[in-house]
Amino acid sequence: MKKVGVLDLQGGVEEHINLLDKIDNVESIRIKKAEQIDSIDALILPGGESTTMSKLIKKYNLSEKIKNFKGPIWGTCAGLILLSKKIENDEKTETLKLLDITVKRNAFGSQLNSFIKKEKISVLQYPFEMVFIRAPIISKTNNNVEIIAKTNDKIVGIKQGNIIGTSFHPELTNDKSFHEYFLSLIK
Ligand code: GLN
Repeated sequence: MKKVGVLDLQGGVEEHINLLDKIDNVESIRIKKAEQIDSIDALILPGGESTTMSKLIKKYNLSEKIKNFKGPIWGTCAGLILLSKKIENDEKTETLKLLDITVKRNAFGSQLNSFIKKEKISVLQYPFEMVFIRAPIISKTNNNVEIIAKTNDKIVGIKQGNIIGTSFHPELTNDKSFHEYFLSLIK
């Protein structure tokens, strides 16, 4: 049984839990306290509001535990923002700096607050439905970062070692394949 934690401070927790529950041999765990991180095999940081989530990570002393976690980590949308080294249009929000990237929040502008695009992703066999909601883009990547997804020439998915970030929300589709790919990174 693979134990997958979803950081349960704010945002789209339920959607990840619902999708994980459709996959065999996976136990999903809502992570509210630092010590729970000791017992999981992989960790998901969901979408939501990165500023709020950042404050709650600090309040509940979760930062060091997440930074020292050795298993795969995946951040969706606000979760991706929190994993990044730098937010180019937000100096105040504290991030975990686990991914050697710069992100730009709400980068698709008000015209394109939310949209869906089907696009090839390097880590999946077939085009995947990408759901964007006030999504960030990845504006800079270092050499050690692999680009796994793009849309309109913008980087929207990356991988660095066993840490993944996506601007889009696979948990809002009925397709289990991105979650299954993430789970395949568990050793
Ligand atoms: N716009 C949000 C932020 O900057 C992210 C949106 C999302 O997670 N769907 O935190």
